[in-house]
Amino acid sequence: MSADLVVRGDAWDVAVEDGLVAAVGPELPGGREEVDARGLVVLPGMVDGHVHLDDPGRAGWEGWDTGTAALAAGGVTCCADMPLNSVPATLDGASFDAKVAAARGRARIDFALWGGLVPGNLEGMDELAGRGVVGFKAFMSPSGVPEFAHVDPDALGRGMERAAALGLPVAVHAEDPAVLDAVPRGGGRTMRDWCASRPVAAETSAVRTVLELARATRCAVHLVHLSSPEAVDLVRAARVAGVDASCETCPHYLVLTRDDASRIGAAAKCAPPLRSVADQMGLWQRVARGDIDLVGSDHSPGPPELKRGDDMFAVWGGISGAQTTLPLMLTHGPSNGVTHAHGVEMLAAAPARRLDLAGKGEIRPGADADLTLVDVGRPWVLGEGDLRYRHRVSPFVGMTLTARVVRTILRGITVFGEGATDAAPGRLVTPAWVA
Ligand code: ZN
Repeated sequence: MSADLVVRGDAWDVAVEDGLVAAVGPELPGGREEVDARGLVVLPGMVDGHVHLDDPGRAGWEGWDTGTAALAAGGVTCCADMPLNSVPATLDGASFDAKVAAARGRARIDFALWGGLVPGNLEGMDELAGRGVVGFKAFMSPSGVPEFAHVDPDALGRGMERAAALGLPVAVHAEDPAVLDAVPRGGGRTMRDWCASRPVAAETSAVRTVLELARATRCAVHLVHLSSPEAVDLVRAARVAGVDASCETCPHYLVLTRDDASRIGAAAKCAPPLRSVADQMGLWQRVARGDIDLVGSDHSPGPPELKRGDDMFAVWGGISGAQTTLPLMLTHGPSNGVTHAHGVEMLAAAPARRLDLAGKGEIRPGADADLTLVDVGRPWVLGEGDLRYRHRVSPFVGMTLTARVVRTILRGITVFGEGATDAAPGRLVTPAWVA
């Protein structure tokens, strides 16, 4: 019996049957469909563990259709959507079901869901675990939307106890509100003022609190979007001491600085903000050393009307980056000591492992046939027209990249590139232990 699909690479081929990798090796027998990937690099589909697709409720900001189209165009075959900024926020079983319903028939790639850890939500966490969330997200400082409250250390600790009992990790936005509140305000409203208003000290203080709670509760923790080398070092030290702690950084902290933010404006506003060149170099060193577990996009778009104006404290914060993580990593990694293989591992296998998504992030017999075909070494300039987001805004527009996703295959179905289906075959994936 011949395979459904054979992807022919330079050194080895991948045979696909029933949406799964059936064989990997040189010169496999012919399939009913053949994809010629010679001259390209064949990678596993990327796993973006941190996106905000804002749907249901704020589908005008992004939405499952455009958000997953952009992810597919960036070589991503599985994303984990954060519990905010959708409405309702994903805080209980009903809101989980509403999000899955919104995604069905519109998601071009597979998706997992994070649940929310907000004050007084312990019962909601139980429901969410039963539905199959990959973990719980908490904010230590105000989240930016009213329906997702932040937690103080007491509430965070109680939530982490519950998460530990449920066997799920807690992902934390770590900025200490007390440190933020104590920053002297000069009254300026520029990007430089915004960056200065959220210092590294707020991040390190919050990370210390999270790690102490993790030690006390034995809860697995994941520090999202770390912006400073100091914070990464705290996570590393805790891990060495036996705490189940992982951390992530984002492409924007690796390839943009606060000076870039001042030049670019609202499209580069985020929290924690973009940092100094020294911080950026420190992050790259820690990526290269393996101290940073994974890279997530933290794709967090907003509508144009909320991104307008010169008041950088008033415009919506959040960077649109879901489509460019892989090309940026392959372009900038090697000159910063990060091989292509290591970069791919941080974008695919590492997040799949941390979120317990079996069959994702690697090419091996039995795994989902999620493949990304990449043209490496041919420079191109990212233009607005390349973006698949609902709003074609990104701080990376105009950058020269040396890797370009040519085709993305989800469980044997091409979802981006030549021959891509018009359908949206994405489906919910849950941690391995739920099934
Ligand atoms: Zn986020």
